[in-house]
Amino acid sequence: MTRSLLLSAAVLWAAAFGPSAFGQLSPTKDNGPIPDNAKYGQADSFRELTEILPTPNDYRTASGAPGHEYWQQRADYDIAVTLNEEEHTLTGAETIVYHNHSPDRLEYLWLQLDANLFTPDSLARRTATGPDDLSEDMTFDALKQMLAAETFDGGFKIDKVAVGPRGQGGADLPYTVVDTMMRVDLPKPLEPGANYTFNVAWHFTLNNSEEIGGRTGYEPLEDGNDLFCIAQWFPRMCVYGDAVGWQHKQYYGRGEFALELGDYDVTITCPADLVVSATGVLQNPAQCLTQTQRDRLETAKTSKAPVFIVTRAESDEARKTRNEGGGTKSWHWKAENVRDFAFTASRAFIWDAWGNTVPDEDAKSGEHFTMCQSLYPSECEPLWSQYSTQAIAHCIEVYSKFTFPYPYPNAISVYGVVGGGMEYPMICWNGPKPEEDGTYDARTKYFLISVVIHEVGHNWFPMIVNSDERRWTWMDEGLNTFLQYLAEQEWEDEYPSRRGRPEDITTFMKSTNQVPIMTNSESLLQFGANAYAKPATALNILRETVLGRELFDKAFKTYSRRWKFKHPEPADFFRTMEDASGRDLDWFWRGWFYTTSHVDLGVSNLRVYTVDAGDPVEKENRERTEEEAEPKTLSDLRNEELPKRIDSFPELEDFYNSYDELKATKKQIKTYKEFLEGLNEEQLRLLKNDAKFYAMDLTNDGGLPMPVILKLTYADGSTEEVRIPAEIWRANNQKVTKVLMRKKAIEKVELDPNRETADVDRSDNMLPREIVESRFKLFKKKSDKNPMQEAREAEAEDAKEKAAAEKAAAEKAAKTDTEDPEEAAEEKAEAEAPRSEASGD
Ligand SMILES: [Zn+2]
Repeated sequence: MTRSLLLSAAVLWAAAFGPSAFGQLSPTKDNGPIPDNAKYGQADSFRELTEILPTPNDYRTASGAPGHEYWQQRADYDIAVTLNEEEHTLTGAETIVYHNHSPDRLEYLWLQLDANLFTPDSLARRTATGPDDLSEDMTFDALKQMLAAETFDGGFKIDKVAVGPRGQGGADLPYTVVDTMMRVDLPKPLEPGANYTFNVAWHFTLNNSEEIGGRTGYEPLEDGNDLFCIAQWFPRMCVYGDAVGWQHKQYYGRGEFALELGDYDVTITCPADLVVSATGVLQNPAQCLTQTQRDRLETAKTSKAPVFIVTRAESDEARKTRNEGGGTKSWHWKAENVRDFAFTASRAFIWDAWGNTVPDEDAKSGEHFTMCQSLYPSECEPLWSQYSTQAIAHCIEVYSKFTFPYPYPNAISVYGVVGGGMEYPMICWNGPKPEEDGTYDARTKYFLISVVIHEVGHNWFPMIVNSDERRWTWMDEGLNTFLQYLAEQEWEDEYPSRRGRPEDITTFMKSTNQVPIMTNSESLLQFGANAYAKPATALNILRETVLGRELFDKAFKTYSRRWKFKHPEPADFFRTMEDASGRDLDWFWRGWFYTTSHVDLGVSNLRVYTVDAGDPVEKENRERTEEEAEPKTLSDLRNEELPKRIDSFPELEDFYNSYDELKATKKQIKTYKEFLEGLNEEQLRLLKNDAKFYAMDLTNDGGLPMPVILKLTYADGSTEEVRIPAEIWRANNQKVTKVLMRKKAIEKVELDPNRETADVDRSDNMLPREIVESRFKLFKKKSDKNPMQEAREAEAEDAKEKAAAEKAAAEKAAKTDTEDPEEAAEEKAEAEAPRSEASGD
């Protein structure tokens, strides 16, 4: 998902984790399970990661690839669902064919009932905390959400769980609902290699997304029509895997989900005039679409720009007529090898489509075709028809290049319900839209482009590279945000990317209320910065600064391809990136993913050395110069004037009063001459070497080791960049000395001149130190009015209002229609209040 900036019930839960809970952590030292290196009183940043990674086995190798015994389960679904528009309910029945590819006998199966999040006594609601201070001003929306959360029941009502396909009268199966999970007990254990067919029937009430935020629901549009975005709506098989067994960690609303791949056959029945779109391919276009619409889709396949399948005028008309013909229509969809199924329905949709082709070396034709599509109400115009489908196509082109070609036939962006965005296979919800007058600010425009790229990008991570979102948010959000950054930068010059640039992460990196990236999704602090921005920036730095583009891109592509349509774990990523790049990155994963250390390198001192050839005459001259240059103390200066005893008693002088200890002796000169005569040519050349040896002290105050990038400026004005790998810190992670030999004199040193390492404090990055330029703003102290002044102003205001009211009353006599001013004010306040959040992501 992509988080919107607005507040909601979902975010109130997140407020549980205040800074105080983790206040004891030091921001600069390791907080993870990393033993200190007692010798230096510091964490050993280069300690082998193998001691905390799971032991490799036949399922997952030490190289990070799936092992020769790798297995994963599979679940195929056949679902019939009816959407009741008036009641806002869903009624469904499904057949699940569960394939046990594991080597284990399974006595029971676990399913997810995500909608149980919306029961008043859900674990999520009972454990929700905050806001800290209820006395603060609350928006109408926020209050509405709090009240709705207390009473709304949108949980699953399970009507039946039975053996065999749906509708065939199989015997009931015992089941137990545990909050958002359901255990189905099998009559006898499911053997390895066998499959099991059973069916579930259910119904539930959909949430109004303006009252109860979430990843699913319906948005009431102002003209009374609804826009349905339906997700996490059917009982879905939990993952059973080699890493954690049954993944039935409860749903609290934030950690998304882990799901098995499978084929879907879904029939959606709803009022006849709704436009439906979904994961998969429509099987009965002749029944669902008009001939015109089908012709337009055909044109869109090869057109140079997106083509309207439903125009604005057609959608306006449908919104007015509202299924006047009555009746329902059933849309039949099939999807192959997907981990979930979501759909959308509304008569308010404008629909555009555009064919896109990317190279695909694995395909017979050498390319892959995708129909990119966007569905949105007229409230989204003119923004959406200009950018949404273009952003889908752009995402597919860029992501396919860095990972593997997009494998599905459709990629669909839908306006709806979440504020930010939310992803499902082939289809995603995106929130940004223009103002009511059709204007928009730059932020909204780029938010739309970015969120569409992001949500479509989730097809790769985690829909296809099928990681466990409920445990590891970074594995999909971090990797996806990283690719999103690359795609944004290929959209236009200086695209205003929110996340990915090293400089933008420094404030978070310095902050104290944070936990390592390797923290369970529900316990993350500063969610967006931790799970999206930090891993995305880390990968960007790994690519640009640590490995270089060529090595990184090869390794990242290897990971993507190895785990395509499989379940990777964090270690599989860490290991593959090392395996394919040939670089030991344990220090990088440890520092960026297992600790809250930050980057703060500095250059503290620079000394220059030259060869002392041992020539006594040269030594005499040098030392005399140095002695003369030495400053005299204040006492010395004042004492010079004092009369000295030795002047009155010359007999006090002896040998040492005239002895010159600096003067080269004849013996020294002779010895030196003999020394030179004894040297061979090479030794003579080394002795005459006039190179300068610069000893540079480097400090690491943040604890996170990083490459040392130096810009040297020489006395002649020329510059040189020196790039020292991070392994320079491998024996001492706090202070090291680097010696550089140069013919030319160094005048200036700058550390990290291109701002590529996320160094949080640049004040120690320059030698000689430079004055750091900053600005402060001046404010005039706001003058508070005293109570007498306020009373006088109020009187004046009253008089003005009274006059206005009298005038209005006179005018009103001539008119019949009236308006309730209180209600209007309320409406205005609501319109101005931030919309419910429901952070997508
Ligand atoms: Zn996301």
